[in-house]
Amino acid sequence: MYIDCSAKELFVLKKISNAAEELGMQAFIIGGFVRDKIIGRPSKDVDVVCLGDGILLAEKVAQRFSPKPVVAFFKNFGTAQIKLEDLEIEFVGARKESYSSDSRNPVVEPGTIEEDQNRRDFTINTLAISLNKQDYGSLIDPFNGLADIEAKNIQTPLEPVQTFIDDPLRMMRAIRFATQLQFEITKTTFQAIKDNKERIRIVSQERITDELNKIMATAKPSVGWHLLFTSGLLSIIFPQMVDLAGAQYIDGKGHKDNFYHTLQVIDNICKHTDDLWLRWAALLHDIGKPATKRFEEGHGWTFHGHEMVGARMVPKIFNKLKLPMNEKMRFVQKLVELHLRPISLTKENITDSAIRRLLFDAGEDIDALMLLCNADITSKNKFKVKRYLANFEMVKKRMEEVEEQDKVRNWQPPITGELIMETFGLKPGRNVGIIKDAIREAILDGVIPNNYEDAFQFMLLKGKELNLAPIS
Ligand code: ATP
Repeated sequence: MYIDCSAKELFVLKKISNAAEELGMQAFIIGGFVRDKIIGRPSKDVDVVCLGDGILLAEKVAQRFSPKPVVAFFKNFGTAQIKLEDLEIEFVGARKESYSSDSRNPVVEPGTIEEDQNRRDFTINTLAISLNKQDYGSLIDPFNGLADIEAKNIQTPLEPVQTFIDDPLRMMRAIRFATQLQFEITKTTFQAIKDNKERIRIVSQERITDELNKIMATAKPSVGWHLLFTSGLLSIIFPQMVDLAGAQYIDGKGHKDNFYHTLQVIDNICKHTDDLWLRWAALLHDIGKPATKRFEEGHGWTFHGHEMVGARMVPKIFNKLKLPMNEKMRFVQKLVELHLRPISLTKENITDSAIRRLLFDAGEDIDALMLLCNADITSKNKFKVKRYLANFEMVKKRMEEVEEQDKVRNWQPPITGELIMETFGLKPGRNVGIIKDAIREAILDGVIPNNYEDAFQFMLLKGKELNLAPIS
């Protein structure tokens, strides 16, 4: 076998080979699995191409296992899938494709293995391994994909312009592979992406966002965002990110380029978390800056309120990108809104009440917020960075102390709305909210200690101010 496979994988491949032989069919493994095995990346998705009916082959393969795995098949596409423990094996007949100008869905006809290799997006994805008796395990590499893996090149097997016109999703895939594998897109292939960027408009948002999420899951998403920017795709698929780019100067005073700052922040945070949503928060943390940018005479550039404006932009961006409009979105929104808070604490006198408020507002997301703030320190000035980090550590320490003492993280005030209503005989309404907020504020500000007794007395006091008397 040309590639290194585990004993279990070899066992499965042999069964596929025998089943194909029995049917008098030729079969090959192809694409991502072969590529990843050569590179040495883990891969569990095996694509099998056969010269004939893929569903029939899948059925024959399944029969050779006990218990027999379920064959999931899609008659329209002529594909079938079986799962064998952690291996997912997909079967399809070799095909050739022809495209029309208004769709990325080709007209498909049965074809040869060469024709099937021709229709693949990048040379590194065209590699096939024979499962046929006469040359079992040998590599079929008509486009020098192996050399491109060694040279870390991403290029199309056929003419790149046509490849991208046929299926513009491939432009996103090129950038995603470059980011995932840390390969380079060759000059002509990249030029073809630039020249055909407008074609991305025929690709569904879900497919584009799938690729963005794959870029976000890599060790250095900045590579992908940078390529999206320089190819011109970004201004079509996510213009708000492009608005971050560039530094403007007035009276010799400039501000930092917020696009490249953002890319640094996202790479920084990726060293500390795999959480996709925390990564999105890092990407969007300064998204409100372009809208709030001002030049103030004698002061320089300011971005007042960019965290609030940015937080308001998050749902719109999630909606447009078809990212989930659920608690993940609210998490990102919350982090964008709070991302300056720990840093601003380091600039003023840190009172217990400011710390308590931060712990209360961030709740269970405080650790994620602190990771984001840490990643946000990107100054080139070493002294500044040292000072920020030292202050930052101090805030962390104070947070631990205050939390130890007051337990405000994930905290609920000791007096509930129910109890307020019961005490004063109230129906749900404004006064209940006023009293409840006042109790919470008093505890956070340290006016009263965080316990039931003191909070109850405070509630009575507040009620009195509102001309309310307890009913018993
Ligand atoms: P990943 O699993 O990380 O997405 P992959 O290369 O395995 O990477 P798949 O989407 O599973 O990608 O596709 C399997 C193979 O099918 C690819 O290796 C490639 O040969 C081919 N392929 C997938 N999508 C396209 C496309 N849009 N155009 C041409 N070939 C494609």
